[in-house]
Parts: sequence; structure tokens; C-alpha cells
Amino acid sequence: MLNNNGGDLRWSNWSRSVDIRPSSIEHPRTVEEIQELLRSSRDRVRVAGSGHSFTPLVATDDLLISLEGLDGDVFEVDGEAGTARLQAGASLNRLSRAMQEHGWAFKNLGDIDVQSLAGATSTATHGTGRSFPCLSAEIEGVKLVTADGSLLSVDREQHPEWLPGVRVALGALGVLVEAEVSVRPAYKLHRRTEIRPLRQTLLDAGSRWARHRNYEFFYLPYCDYAFNITHDETTAEDFSDAGGDDDEAVRQLKLLRDLTAWAPGLRRMIINLIARRFKTEETVGTSWRLLANTREYRFNEMEYHLPAERGLEAFEELYTTLEREQRRVFFPVECRRTAGDENWLSPFQHGSRISIAVHTPHRENHEWFFSLAEPIFRKYGGRPHWGKLHSLRHGDLVELYPDFEAFLDLRRRLDPDGRFLNPHTAALWGEAFGS
Ligand SMILES: Cc1cc2nc3c(=O)[nH]c(=O)nc-3n(C[C@H](O)[C@H](O)[C@H](O)COP(=O)(O)OP(=O)(O)OC[C@H]3O[C@@H](n4cnc5c(N)ncnc54)[C@H](O)[C@@H]3O)c2cc1C
Repeated sequence: MLNNNGGDLRWSNWSRSVDIRPSSIEHPRTVEEIQELLRSSRDRVRVAGSGHSFTPLVATDDLLISLEGLDGDVFEVDGEAGTARLQAGASLNRLSRAMQEHGWAFKNLGDIDVQSLAGATSTATHGTGRSFPCLSAEIEGVKLVTADGSLLSVDREQHPEWLPGVRVALGALGVLVEAEVSVRPAYKLHRRTEIRPLRQTLLDAGSRWARHRNYEFFYLPYCDYAFNITHDETTAEDFSDAGGDDDEAVRQLKLLRDLTAWAPGLRRMIINLIARRFKTEETVGTSWRLLANTREYRFNEMEYHLPAERGLEAFEELYTTLEREQRRVFFPVECRRTAGDENWLSPFQHGSRISIAVHTPHRENHEWFFSLAEPIFRKYGGRPHWGKLHSLRHGDLVELYPDFEAFLDLRRRLDPDGRFLNPHTAALWGEAFGS
């Protein structure tokens, strides 16, 4: 994603929805070098993680800092406290591998694990599971290089009152260089992927979230079935009879949509036929290998987090609307659940939420789909994923987040000159963005 094309500096995100030309891109190797970068100029600055956000959070014309070259991964594991001090610029995958060597693991992960720890916590990245909060809620403390180049610790002893602010901060408060994360001893999971009628899936979703450690489902548009995926802890031997390839399945669903545009009934019939023949897949293995997948098929995404008691109602309305109005949709619609937390900008603040995610291939226009889905999500009290496409602005966010002003106070205190602002975040914070 970083490109030095004959001196022409470029950066783009994973889905290519953001393509920028910063005036400089720096790869510091130590915390001291980051401090020096901030002290030696007054330029605006943004920090890039792995570029897996769809929203223009990282966009800047000025200085872009990447922590890809920063030394270290696991600095220390405190077995008694169940916490690990981790290098925040490292990817979740690299950290999982390194923690495994110490016999430890993240409690939960999302669909992928190539995001940086800092990027993932900054946008409240989540997996699924009724009792698992988003990753940000597992953060016990952080170290940040702030706008004036000083190193600030926020944890249970130092500035504990700022912890709910720094855990989800969209890169607005400084450069996150270290995080202390609540972790657990390494463990194995049993993943089961089965196809079930959509109606039954919706009826059973609540009890499946209650019964299984992790549960999610993917509804296949124009089909009467959904993939149901559960993960449960096990000590069984490693095993797999899974042969499925998610990216290939998405390609085939697209092909089918394109070939049967003239006969939607035929499309439903074919997908139903294939779905009914799907053989349940079982896999046992290391937690992080089974929770996270690789995603080669690039897409754009919108995901809203809905109050748990209304999430499936919102899903029903989305489903009915798509069946009635939009035959172009083919990408599976994902539905997950996350526990609540108390962080100011966490979409899960003050209660468990059900998340619904819609996707389009990255080369296709997404407006027609996302502008259809977003009013439904908003009607049911949804809050958008910070890293995924949405159209909300300052006024909307103030209504959705009771502690929005507390976050803005902290932002103004730590970055009084707005060095970490960019046009996207300025619009979210309700600030002017001048050059
Ligand atoms: C294929 C795919 C699958 C995904 N699956 C999930 C999923 O299952 N669950 C989920 O919740 N989300 C998911 N996401 C979204 C993704 O987890 C978030 O957008 C996350 O923020 C990406 O992390 P990143 O390291 O790429 O950060 P970036 O996108 O590079 O940055 C995100 C934000 O973090 C800030 N930031 C990054 N590093 C630092 C730092 N060191 N200090 C301060 N600020 C920093 C950036 O400035 C920016 O504001 C997915 C995205 C993709 C493309």
C-alpha cells in the first residue's frame, strides 16, 4: 500500500477507497524517532496501521507515519494479572504468533488478523460472541507520543480517567506505541460451519449466541439459507474436513448474479440447490488460526452496530428490502454480536450490540446499496463502525454518543493545535479544517 513511484509518494488503503499523496512518509524504528518527528516540525500528521479501514481516517497531504518498522512485539506477559504489554504497531497476527510462544493468546479476534493492534483498537474492531467485547475494551493501558513529542502513559495508575477516551480514538490523540492488553492462556477451538434455512437461523440466533462461545451467520442474498459458524473451546486433537474457500464462493455468487440477471427465480433455485448440498465442515485448531481468515477478494463495506434487542428486527427489514428492491446484491450479509463496554467512542458503549455488515466488490459502485441499508440501520438505533463506510457527521454522532463531548475535551487538551486532524475526522469532531 506504500508506494514510492519515482519520488511520487502514494498510500492507498486495502479496498482502494482511499488513495493519497502525503508530502512525506516516515517509518521510525524507535519511539525516540517518533518523538523526534513530532518535535522537529509543526506539520499535520496521521498514522497508518495496516490500511484496512474503508473510511478516510488515514488520509493526509502532510506527514504520514507508519509503524511497520518499529521494533518489538511482545514486551512482557504478566501471567498473574493476565495482561501482555504489546507493541501497538505490530499486526494482530504477528502478536498472536509471538504470544503463542509465551503460551498466551488474544481472547477474541475479528474476521481477519492483519490489522495493527493500534489500528484495530482505534476503531473498536470486534469479533463475535455474546460475552466478548470489542478489542478496545481489553486495553488496560497505553503509551502515546502526543502532539508535542512527549510520551504519555494512560493506565490504571496514570490518568485512569482518560482510559475510556484513549481506547477508541481514531488516531486523534497521538501515536499509540504500546498497549497493555488483557489476554488469556493459549487455547484451541472447534469451528463448525453449516448451512441452515434462513428462517430457522433467525429463530435460533439468540440461543446460539447464548450456547456458543462465538457465533455468527452469513445470509446469502436471493437464497433461503444462511451459513452458520460457531466456535467452541476444546482440547481435542487438530482436525479438519473443511474444503471451502470463502473468496471463491463470493466469486461464484457474483458470476451467478451476472449470468442470471434476466431470471432471478433461476438464481434462487440454483443457489438453494447448491446450499442444500453443502456438507457441514468441522475444524479443530489454534484459536487465532480459526477465528481469523484471509480475505483476497477486495470489497467495500458498511457495518452498523444495533442495540441487541433490535438487531434481528433490523436484519429482517434489510432482508425484506433487498428481496423486494435490489437484485444486484450478491455478497453474503454478515451478522455478529458483541458485548457492551464503557468507552466513550465505542459503538458498544452501554450495552451489547448486534452488528450487520454489507459489502460490494471494490470496483463496483457501492452508493446504491449502502444508501439503501444505512437508513434502516439508523432507524433501529445503529452506530456505525468507525473504520467502515458511513455518512454520519458531527450532529448525528453527538446524539449517538453520550460522552462525545468528554472525548472532544480530551482531544483538545492533548492536541490543542489540531496536528492530528484530517478533513474526515474534523467533520466528525465538528472542527474547522484549515490548511
Ligand atoms: C477484509 C477486512 C476485514 C475486516 N474485518 C473486521 C472485523 O472482523 N471486525 C471489525 O471490527 N473490523 C473489521 N475490519 C475493519 C478493520 O478492523 C478496522 O478498520 C481497523 O481499524 C483496521 O486496522 P488497521 O491497522 O488497518 O488501521 P488503519 O485502517 O490503518 O487505521 C485505522 C485508524 O487507526 C489509527 N491508527 C493506526 N495506527 C495508529 C497508531 N499507532 N497510533 C494512533 N492511531 C493509529 C489511524 O490513524 C486510523 O484512524 C475489516 C477490514 C477489512 C478490510
